[in-house]
Amino acid sequence: MALDPSRTVAELKELRKLTGDDDGAQRVAWTETWEQARAWLREKVADTGAEHEIDAAGNQWFTLRGASERELLIGGHMDSVPNGGWLDGCLNVMAGVETLRRIASEGTPPLTVRLVDWADEEGARFGRSLFGSSAAGGSMADQDEIRQRTDAAGIRWPDALAEHGVDLDRALEAHSQLANAAAYLELHIEQGPVLESMDLPLGVVLGTFGVERHQITWRGQAAHSGSTPMAQRRDALAGAAKLALEIRPIAAEVGEGAVCTSGGVVCKPGIVTSVVETAEQLLDQRHLDAAKLQRMLDLAKEASERFAREENVEVSWEKLWSINPILFDDHLIDLADESIREVCGASHRLPSGPLHDAAEVARAGVPTVMLFVQSLRGLSHTKVEDTKEEHIELSVQALDRLASKALAAFS
Ligand SMILES: [Zn+2]
Repeated sequence: MALDPSRTVAELKELRKLTGDDDGAQRVAWTETWEQARAWLREKVADTGAEHEIDAAGNQWFTLRGASERELLIGGHMDSVPNGGWLDGCLNVMAGVETLRRIASEGTPPLTVRLVDWADEEGARFGRSLFGSSAAGGSMADQDEIRQRTDAAGIRWPDALAEHGVDLDRALEAHSQLANAAAYLELHIEQGPVLESMDLPLGVVLGTFGVERHQITWRGQAAHSGSTPMAQRRDALAGAAKLALEIRPIAAEVGEGAVCTSGGVVCKPGIVTSVVETAEQLLDQRHLDAAKLQRMLDLAKEASERFAREENVEVSWEKLWSINPILFDDHLIDLADESIREVCGASHRLPSGPLHDAAEVARAGVPTVMLFVQSLRGLSHTKVEDTKEEHIELSVQALDRLASKALAAFS
């Protein structure tokens, strides 16, 4: 069967009709609609002759036996956020199905080829993403915390898992699925504006950003707005305000895609008649290079101490969360670049801001790469998420070529 990228577009529309409504996609993991989407996927893959299996973490696998036990993996996720877009996650899976069909039609592949539909990438119902891939990758270290989580209706996560055949105590057994993995490929919509701004359909992802997330607390003195002269104020908000602007030159100095965001400041007492006594500021810094990420954090800390002196306030930092950058495989990046150039003439290398299942697989030591296809207006996690159909078709072709190149390179 020849590759037919237009079939992928048609199938994605079919899936949208089956599992979406006027508000968008409703394939939230561990729900009936999600199960419906996964059952629909099984019907779609049936004609390839691939073996079907659901692992201990709920990931759905389709295996096409090859000449070797070594495996080429292609992955995506059928789950969506509530009121989500029609492409996030499922484009990857359906492009993988089309690639699997093409490979199956050509006889026994040199490597075993497996398509994986990761369980609960989005974490929409219980607030923790990458459930299935982190179990398979082996990084899931927060099972005690997962055990305590409940959804908005108060249903415990382990109970919801059990309803869908997953025993949380055994979820990490999914790790054995990666035992023979030679390479992992994932296509995804960009979910950002970079490729559209460059007028390019596709790009190669270099890795996922490292993240430093901190709460910065500024402490001054509450004082009357009318009776306190300007020179005698200890205004906690002044420090936060200076830092909120200073992160721009810091990101510019560090460069190479550095991004920093001061996503919120909560002021107390927070009334119009008082100078701000405490300002709790949120800061998120991201970079693909661990040393540059550290440099960005150091510069922000130094600046905060300078502003604290200038404003006669105190400042303290508390880490909320951090993760190291996860870099994709150089060889696969080159192959992905070649595939994109062959299909659409030009390519671009870019980092990923969001984490993806691919990051968990890469962390587990499997050579990994991702392809991004342009997102219109950079929007995702909304029903208006969209990509031009011609770009979707190009993305299927690029994934298919990359799969061929990886099969040749790793066998
Ligand atoms: Zn996704």
